[in-house]
Amino acid sequence: MNNRVLFVDDEPNILATYKRMLRKLFTIDTALGSEQGLTKVANSGTFSVVVSDLQMPVMNGLTFLCRVKAINPDCACIILTGKADLQIAIDAVNQGNIFRFLTKPCESGTLIGTIKDGIEYNKQSMLEREINKKILNLSIKDSLTGCFNRTYLNTHLSNEIKRARRYRHSFSIIMCDIDDFKQINDTYGHMAGDQVLKSFAQGINDTIRIEVDWLVRYGGEEFLLVLPEIGMKGATSLAERICADLAKKKIRIEGKEVQITASFGLAGFTPETPQEKTSPEFLITTADTLLYRAKTQGKNRVVVH
Ligand code: GH3
Ligand code: MG
Ligand code: MG
Repeated sequence: MNNRVLFVDDEPNILATYKRMLRKLFTIDTALGSEQGLTKVANSGTFSVVVSDLQMPVMNGLTFLCRVKAINPDCACIILTGKADLQIAIDAVNQGNIFRFLTKPCESGTLIGTIKDGIEYNKQSMLEREINKKILNLSIKDSLTGCFNRTYLNTHLSNEIKRARRYRHSFSIIMCDIDDFKQINDTYGHMAGDQVLKSFAQGINDTIRIEVDWLVRYGGEEFLLVLPEIGMKGATSLAERICADLAKKKIRIEGKEVQITASFGLAGFTPETPQEKTSPEFLITTADTLLYRAKTQGKNRVVVH
């Protein structure tokens, strides 16, 4: 928690006065005018509170604070103005970006109290954002492996497919299932099995493109990898690489080295593929059938058609 406060005014004397008055209580930074203010907000880390003058050349305080909020949404924005115009106050409240509206000259006790309230508001706002992020994560991710869950898959796969078709991109999915996983549990215990699942998912997540490809825990030890803009050729080499890397890797659990393999079934489409062969159901069924074929052919392999 940094508790940094930024003062923005087009009068250097006013900025110097604030700094003198408040520097013992807060970490104060100042900016001469809105443009310098925006540069500081964008480049020098987050501020808990930004106090701005209203009347400034180039950009008035309301527009300035609106832009501050766009960069730093949890910041408490305070307007300090000599001209308490009712319409301006109404606009400030309606825009919803202003935490408090103070008039000049502002008595130091009021200013200090308002900045303290602003710091508290900033803390709460950051906390709420963090909690909301965690709740969202819990609702779309599998808690053991951190992979996306079936709920996420059900809503996002069809969108991803629609986007690929609209932009005439290729698209692939890989269904994979750890081989003889039951034996891992039976030999090393369920907890070790959990570690193997985590390590398996981590290995794949380390291989794929961040924020483009995504991995779903489809079932117990079955995972679905979604690869936007990747054709069957690319998907096949990726699956073969994951399969080969896995067969070479040793997973260390409680001093023991565990070796696993997995089987892979692929499906996908190009811009030329007829629509009925691009539905989520069709792709998943195809990949699943080929995964089953990989299992019957001896496991530890990739099957494409
Ligand atoms: P195959 O090669 O044919 O896929 O055989 P398999 O043993 O991997 O497959 P099977 O479906 O027979 O067994 C899967 C096992 O995975 C059974 C189940 O107890 C275990 N499993 C499912 N979810 C979890 C989990 O979250 N943690 C652990 N440790 N085991 C799990
Ligand atoms: Mg299995
Ligand atoms: Mg299975």
